[in-house]
Amino acid sequence: MWPLENVFSTIVETHNSLPTYTQVILLMAEGLKWMQCPVCKESIYWEVPKDSLKDVKRFPVPVVVKHKDHYLVCYLDSHFQLADTEIAIAGVEGKEKK
Ligand SMILES: [Zn+2]
Repeated sequence: MWPLENVFSTIVETHNSLPTYTQVILLMAEGLKWMQCPVCKESIYWEVPKDSLKDVKRFPVPVVVKHKDHYLVCYLDSHFQLADTEIAIAGVEGKEKK
């Protein structure tokens, strides 16, 4: 279920040391989603927006994930599991008429 090797390698890269048991458990408990970025193939993680999910009535629900200069649309099911991932072809800003 959890790609533990991702948790470990990220902590090692970030802190330059082996993670403690506590660090791994904390990361997993925080509701972080791990995945391979379908654009640049790097291992990435993002935080499940738990507050925003409280009032959701219909699933799956899309979450826009920005990674570097590209955008992904990740769909979460009612168990907050990753149901699907799409790559946005562009990230553009909506502007209102003045
Ligand atoms: Zn990427």
